[in-house]
Amino acid sequence: MRGCRKDRRGDRVNKDAGASVKSIAADTKQRRPRLVRAAVSLPDATTTVRMLDADLAIDAVGWLEVESSAVCGTDIGLYRSGLDGPTVLGHHVVGSIVSLDAAQAEAWGVAVGDRVALEEYLPCQDAACAACSSGCYRMCPQTDLWKGKRRVGLVSAEEGSGLHGGNAEFMQLAANSIVHKLPADLDPDLAAWTQPFANAIDWTINVGGAQEGTTVVVVGPGYHGIAAVAAARAAGAAQIVAIGLSSSLEGLEIAEVLGATPVVHDGGDLGEVILRATAGQGTDVLVDTVGLEGSAVAASARSLRTGGRLVVSGLGSTPVNLDLKALVQGAHSIVGVRGRSPSAVTRSIDILASGRSGLDVVPTVAVPLDEVDEMFARMVEGRGPSSPHVVVRPQPVLAESAGRTEESRVS
Ligand SMILES: [Zn+2]
Ligand SMILES: [Zn+2]
Repeated sequence: MRGCRKDRRGDRVNKDAGASVKSIAADTKQRRPRLVRAAVSLPDATTTVRMLDADLAIDAVGWLEVESSAVCGTDIGLYRSGLDGPTVLGHHVVGSIVSLDAAQAEAWGVAVGDRVALEEYLPCQDAACAACSSGCYRMCPQTDLWKGKRRVGLVSAEEGSGLHGGNAEFMQLAANSIVHKLPADLDPDLAAWTQPFANAIDWTINVGGAQEGTTVVVVGPGYHGIAAVAAARAAGAAQIVAIGLSSSLEGLEIAEVLGATPVVHDGGDLGEVILRATAGQGTDVLVDTVGLEGSAVAASARSLRTGGRLVVSGLGSTPVNLDLKALVQGAHSIVGVRGRSPSAVTRSIDILASGRSGLDVVPTVAVPLDEVDEMFARMVEGRGPSSPHVVVRPQPVLAESAGRTEESRVS
């Protein structure tokens, strides 16, 4: 499958997909949780903190002490539309391995005590699966958000221990978990950007083609939009434009600090807005993180330069009346994207660790477990914090010490 280039770390992490599940070796370093505090989200869009029993785990090969679980638009969308059942949400997870089966440790190339970022995918890893056998595990039907739904932060809290998501003090690791080792000294707020920044790198650079000297326009200065601006900056884009509603001024302000030209757009011809913002030159890369209306997609496509790419990550649902002649004449591409490739995760970690991501300017809103219900309610109603970086920190000490408050200034 396309867009699934493996990388050194990805290969190593997944090289032994069929590793057998053995009992956790006797090792003084191994710690296994018993009763675990978890924020359990319910189909009626409420969340309650419960103690879940880790001993009920089925097929756990190890345990992760959760450091952070960043809140993504997908969480809020699922919550708003009604979960299938009680669920420990949280799929952008960072934590430390506190116990791990010896064979699994060897297969993943990690050890107890290592800090890792978890991808949300729980693929089948069957040799007969075209997605898994090609390394494109995120497209595996078993882990598809709209099909099998076997994903971190989406498996039922009534299955086994129930500890399958990041909004808990600990979560179980399975043989088909996808882990990426993180530097021990990476700042906790930056570490929490690993997955969304990897998404943005894949969408903006790998798919969109952003590189040195290009122009990149990002629609929607939210969680992934800010990450896309940072990705464009990391690629060396000559001009970055961030477009948002007047209700998203704080996000535009953050985008501006990251080097983007902020543009308020509350209606009208989006293509004209982009042409004006780029001195009539148009854009090489256009990333839609909001799911534009069909008419806005068609209008924005007119702002693409020759060879330009419109990358769609938001879930729009209205028909598009597209000028196909202009598409061919301009050699334009319109591409839908989902998740990220293993190589994008590697690049995300490398840029975050280098200190060059710029994402340290984004205030982190830390949320302890007993405030998840209130925060989700605010976000569902569109009353979320001004910063898009909302991070559940299940460990009480970390929740207090890490993360600047939402009142923090962008500097
Ligand atoms: Zn997500
Ligand atoms: Zn598969």
